[in-house]
Amino acid sequence: MIHRFDKLAMALPDPAGPDANAAAAVQELMGGKFGEMSTLMNYTFQSFNFRGREKMRPYFDLISNIAAEEYSHIELVSATINLLLSGTTKRSDRNTSKNSKASPLEEAKAARNSYHFLASGQTALPIDSMGNPWTGANVFSSGNLKLDLLHNFFLECGARANKIRVYEMVSDPCARAMVGFLLVRGGVHIVAYARALEKLTGADVGKLLPIPDVCNKKFPEAAIHEKKGIHRIMYRWSPTDYPQLDQVWNGPHPEDGGELIVKDEIPEGAPWPEFEEEPQLSSPGGIDPDMLKHYAKILS
Ligand code: MN
Ligand code: MN
Repeated sequence: MIHRFDKLAMALPDPAGPDANAAAAVQELMGGKFGEMSTLMNYTFQSFNFRGREKMRPYFDLISNIAAEEYSHIELVSATINLLLSGTTKRSDRNTSKNSKASPLEEAKAARNSYHFLASGQTALPIDSMGNPWTGANVFSSGNLKLDLLHNFFLECGARANKIRVYEMVSDPCARAMVGFLLVRGGVHIVAYARALEKLTGADVGKLLPIPDVCNKKFPEAAIHEKKGIHRIMYRWSPTDYPQLDQVWNGPHPEDGGELIVKDEIPEGAPWPEFEEEPQLSSPGGIDPDMLKHYAKILS
């Protein structure tokens, strides 16, 4: 079971302005092969399917716990996409507009992703940056622990490469703040799966890091979190369960040597931003003033 809170894992700054094509690029971090939906669903299914939990408890706890954190990452990516898409077409209401020839969605023609305007109210969708729907084919759950951990290590490294590329494509401060935070948290997951493989096999996986070979501290939006030590914290996303995380998450961080710590609380979090109405898309829609007048006349 999941216990849900109406909060975001971090506070997002306002975007510099509406930017539909930036939102399209950020979609890769949602529904791309290496996006947050993939990490979420990979670890979720691996935790559902985990055999021999008692014998392998620390690994089960690790995969289950990281799965829960990934939910907070699809939230952050969604919020960023929604903020970037807010105001990308001209706000107007056909019900109140005097101009029957108006085409307020005109700008959407030039946007890379039409689904943001046709299939949603200028909001996030479970698609990648090219509009391909996310697919369950992105889930790997072999049932072999070593193979699954190796896959998860690879998945997190691929996710990191995509985050860095989106960062380089999109200069918007809101998108970069989100990517900076996720680079740090994804870094935690990379180290966690490397540690798990080390415990299980004795191989020194930490020597491969970082992949790609650019340190998170080179990105100012990530460096601010690393200064607070967030790259060394594994949050426990349950008040009562997954007690053996510290059997894997311990010892020195492979890059800076700082101590790895399990925290029994989830991040403090921040409120979701307010998403303004987009009347030109009837989003959220509501009362038609003419219809209201019509019925008021009948009733009186
Ligand atoms: Mn993530
Ligand atoms: Mn992750």
